[in-house]
Amino acid sequence: MATPLDPGLYIVATPIGNLGDITPRAVEVLRGVAAIACEDTRVTGKLLHHLGIKARLIRYDDHASEATRDHLLAIAANEPVALVSDAGTPLISDPGYRLVGEARARGIALTSLPGPSAVVVALTLAGLPSDRFVFGGFLPARDKARREVLAELGLVRATLVFYDTAPRLADSLAAIGAELPGRAVAVARELTKKFEECRSGTPAELAEHYAAHPPKGEIVLLIGPPGEAETPGETEVDDLLRAALLADKPSQAAAQVAKATGLDRKALYARALELK
Ligand code: SAM
Repeated sequence: MATPLDPGLYIVATPIGNLGDITPRAVEVLRGVAAIACEDTRVTGKLLHHLGIKARLIRYDDHASEATRDHLLAIAANEPVALVSDAGTPLISDPGYRLVGEARARGIALTSLPGPSAVVVALTLAGLPSDRFVFGGFLPARDKARREVLAELGLVRATLVFYDTAPRLADSLAAIGAELPGRAVAVARELTKKFEECRSGTPAELAEHYAAHPPKGEIVLLIGPPGEAETPGETEVDDLLRAALLADKPSQAAAQVAKATGLDRKALYARALELK
């Protein structure tokens, strides 16, 4: 007989496709809780059936009434309660943050059981820089809003990760091509499932591929960071100044090289005088 769980709210990640990705600890907790808060009782019911677990399911999303939240937290104050979403990690483009915030405010014990999340799985597959990334949630469906998001987040020196849908992918790739030309892009699709794929290329290459092979299933879209603007070395700066000095006075040569490189015009002028 497993040790009874302490009261509190257990945030439990569930698979994003491959049912083998549920952790033993998640199974133990789902088996041991007094109730499971879930987005869709049918979806979670199927997972529990697969695991051979019978549990009391309570439908919950962040639009649920205060009364539902109160009810769940009243149980969690005295008994263990789990929160799951349809797939992946709760709260990641899924309901839960209001419930967690309120649980925290009431001093109810909280613990999170890590597991799959499509944003992380996609990032590990795409081969784009992963030292800094920005998760942008779902890319907006409307073109204007989508472009605004791309223009805003495109300034950040990080890989951008968005959730997207198959019917919108063509429009999203067109918007990336227009707003962030030259960026490396990857489309991660059906992760952990039979038809998993991760395809990289320019927005135009990917648009061409998916026009010929209309995508199905679930999609994560990744956009590489902006290229580092190369800061020219001293030799390169001297070469630029010498070339400019062939036709122009030092002040004009300095101004010209400053414009091309972004370097300080005064320092370039001093160097131009030395080189003259
Ligand atoms: N909470 C989930 C997580 O942790 O990944 C995400 C839930 S969000 C409502 C659903 C979106 O996640 C899908 O539209 C898709 O963009 C992405 N997603 C979920 N599962 C996926 C999979 N197996 N392959 C690719 N994308 C997936």
